[in-house]
Amino acid sequence: MAGIPSIIVIDEESMSVKQSYLIVSGHFFNPLESGGWDDITQGALCFDEEGRIASFGTFEKVSAQYRLGKYCELIDYSEFLIIPAFVDVHLHAPQFNCRGYYSDNLLEWLDNFIFTEEEKFASSAYANNIATELYKEMASYGIGTASIYGSVHPNATDILFAKGAKTSMKLAIGKVMMDRSEYETTAESLSQSLELYQKWDGKNGGRLRYSFTPRFAPSCTEKLLEEVGKIVSTENALCQTHLSETPGELELVKKLFLGYRNYTEVYSKNKLLKEGSIVAHSIYLDDDEYRILKESGSGVAHCPDSNMFLHSGKMDLNRMLVMKIPIGLGSDIGAGSTLSPFNSMKMMIYAHGKSDITPEMAFYLATLGGAKVIGFGDITGNFSIGKDADFIVMRKPNKVPADGNYTRQVLSHLIFCNGEHHLKAVYLKGERVN
Ligand SMILES: [Zn+2]
Repeated sequence: MAGIPSIIVIDEESMSVKQSYLIVSGHFFNPLESGGWDDITQGALCFDEEGRIASFGTFEKVSAQYRLGKYCELIDYSEFLIIPAFVDVHLHAPQFNCRGYYSDNLLEWLDNFIFTEEEKFASSAYANNIATELYKEMASYGIGTASIYGSVHPNATDILFAKGAKTSMKLAIGKVMMDRSEYETTAESLSQSLELYQKWDGKNGGRLRYSFTPRFAPSCTEKLLEEVGKIVSTENALCQTHLSETPGELELVKKLFLGYRNYTEVYSKNKLLKEGSIVAHSIYLDDDEYRILKESGSGVAHCPDSNMFLHSGKMDLNRMLVMKIPIGLGSDIGAGSTLSPFNSMKMMIYAHGKSDITPEMAFYLATLGGAKVIGFGDITGNFSIGKDADFIVMRKPNKVPADGNYTRQVLSHLIFCNGEHHLKAVYLKGERVN
């Protein structure tokens, strides 16, 4: 990386190096682009005062590059496990307070609980409180990156950004667009979203992104989808929506959108699907829809806890993996019961039964895989040089069976035995936040 020399020997006498560094020692698990994991028992991560990773590898290698002293201090976590901070690719901020409200299907659940709760976000004070609580709870679970749905209110979404700007999190956020309702007109939906996009997209050194957020096809007019498609395809802006979550929703889309071969085509024909777009759920797809998704470069937010809670169905995760469709893991609160990435990973493995979904794959989707889906893969997700130093420090499980796959068994224990209880510290951009 430009500006970060590979070898720094800090000369305190001449103060020839003004930059100061921190080195964190520990047992590191690092996800790789290939989907595998590096396991470095005696490792070290060095980052500068901007919280950018300057060096990573064995302690021997890193400590040979930096001389400890006034300008280079050591945080000793050598007895602990260190992995990248988590990524949640799909959550609804205004549903923070209605997790766990029972309904056996999506459309009734939305009508019974969600729309009335989301109306409360017309109050800036309410929106402010929830934004504060949300970011605090995300940090408590080691989540450093997320793609977030706001409510329909532009002011509440502005508050989510303003509060997010005070964290070191990587956040894609969007005001929900739903012009097929009494809440907004098509023109209001577009102008308010554009204003927020111009105000916030790319702020905080690229750590804040605006994501255009048509709620899902049934709540939007064709005109709105067409206009959003024009914006996101010409501006290369981020976009997020829901796709094919329940059979009832599919029926609704068929009635509302005539002349389309299938649900996915409603989005693709209106130019909403591309790299940087995320569709959540994608459960009931035909062959044509898988092809469209793959060719578009869109990512999929897989939300197994939510899918089981609302009895929505099961996404064909293996097929997506075989087709190399980018996938990330989402809590989807409030249909998801908790922000805990450990819970999301456990639910994913339970949901898909005997399959190729290993603990390593689950952790990959909850870290680097998710970061890439949102569009933050260049700045977080693993310990590559130049990325933000976003990591969690965990107590190691006491006993790990010697079956020859230490990484798998440690990650498995954390997934199935409430890994959040092993959390000792959370660092985002090199600063301890929890
Ligand atoms: Zn959702």
